[in-house]
Amino acid sequence: MQLLFLGAPGAGKGTQCKMLGEKLALKHLSSGDLLREAVKQGTEAGIKAKSFMDKGNLVPDEVLIAMFEEVLSGASVASGSLGSSGTKPLAKTGFILDGFPRNPAQAKALDDLLEKLDTRLEKVINLKTSDELLEERITGRRVCPNKECNAVFHVKFQPSRRDGICDQCGTELNHRSDDKPEVVKQRLSVYREQTAPLIEYYDGKGLLVTVDGEGAPEEVFNKLLEVLKVACQK
Ligand code: AMP
Repeated sequence: MQLLFLGAPGAGKGTQCKMLGEKLALKHLSSGDLLREAVKQGTEAGIKAKSFMDKGNLVPDEVLIAMFEEVLSGASVASGSLGSSGTKPLAKTGFILDGFPRNPAQAKALDDLLEKLDTRLEKVINLKTSDELLEERITGRRVCPNKECNAVFHVKFQPSRRDGICDQCGTELNHRSDDKPEVVKQRLSVYREQTAPLIEYYDGKGLLVTVDGEGAPEEVFNKLLEVLKVACQK
């Protein structure tokens, strides 16, 4: 199954994609996680990306397009086990895209790439939340920096059992520097201007399904499974 998630920062895409990936045994490909890993490793893409991420702006399209081309075609050694599942490219075995594409130019590049790889998106899920909730959700978010884990917590809505420590792997949790209030405002404004138009783009292609993203993660997940069951039967 080839799925794509849309939604504002803080809508809960990361949490839902992780749960869905585990349930359906699909690779969860988060552009933000890939970029943060590249920054940590000090790769050329990471060095280029960092200043844009720190300000809450989009990293240049060519960086993301090259990154996803490598990962989806399984061509990259740098992406380790990410880009392939056995000998087949991910584009064939199934994936969940989270955070890419984020503007119309990236969406067009993804269309071209998937066509080249002889596959296509099956569904695009728009995780919908009210504006008021987003800032509170993002600024209270705490993430596990262990890339094998990437668990997400929230100081109020989903606290870890031990303060500041990941429940799943015991790593010390991070408060992402771009989850601070000044940067969050910019990320939300970038979302509204550049990413939100993709809702209409994928609706026009008949791929869009909308899921109400408000409520506890398990509640949203149940709504997502319901909608997907219906959507996939169509
Ligand atoms: P996220 O974890 O998805 O919120 O992404 C964190 C940051 O990474 C964003 O604020 C952007 O700076 C950058 N980023 C992630 N995905 C993309 C993308 N598709 N295009 C450009 N920049 C991106």
